Parts: sequence; C-alpha cells; structure tokens
Amino acid sequence: MHEMAIAEGVLDIALDYAKQNDAKCIREIGLLIGDMSGVVVDSLTFSFDMIAKGTLAEGAEIKVKHVPLVGRCTKCGKDFRIEHYDFWCPECKDGVLKIVSGREMQVEYLEVD
Ligand SMILES: [Zn+2]
Repeated sequence: MHEMAIAEGVLDIALDYAKQNDAKCIREIGLLIGDMSGVVVDSLTFSFDMIAKGTLAEGAEIKVKHVPLVGRCTKCGKDFRIEHYDFWCPECKDGVLKIVSGREMQVEYLEVD
C-alpha cells in the first residue's frame, strides 16, 4: 500500500496548488519518479484515480518521467549511471558509491484550469 500513501501525498499537493491558483480543475500532473524509488507507476495511477474521484483532480492525467539511478564514486568523484545494480565505479573499479539521484519521487509540474 506504499503507492496509496504516495497518491494521497500527490493529491494533497495538487489540491493545494489548485486552491492557491483558483483553479476549477486539475488537468495534468507531472511526476518525477526515480528508478530506485520502488514506486510501481501502475499502482500509483490506479490509487490516484480512486482517491481523486469527486475532487478537482478527478480525471487528471498523470505523466511520469523516470529519473535514472546515478551514483558518485567517493574515491574519484565520477558520476555515472548505475545499471543492473552494479555499484562499482567503472573508472577506478573501486570506491564506495553515493546515490546522487534515482530515489526521489516528486511532483514536477501541475496543469490546472
Ligand atoms: Zn571511482
């Protein structure tokens, strides 16, 4: 039920924004979802549609942009994309990686009327 909690958070943000902007309806919600955020997009949109019923966000379209998992080597400082959970630095084949992006989940933009 991880996605339900996230959907509620997204709906709160969208409704707040609509209120501040005197909007009559929310058309589109852009989300940034990190590849390692663990969010299942289908469950998220499903949960959202369910709880958005009867609110200004009913029928809003959810556009998801995936954020790749990027790590930074703590030894040589290089940034690179982590694929297949390969957490070794490709430059120095050493070092401990710090995750730079890919774990986030945030609202990128909102389109209202
Ligand atoms: Zn390195």
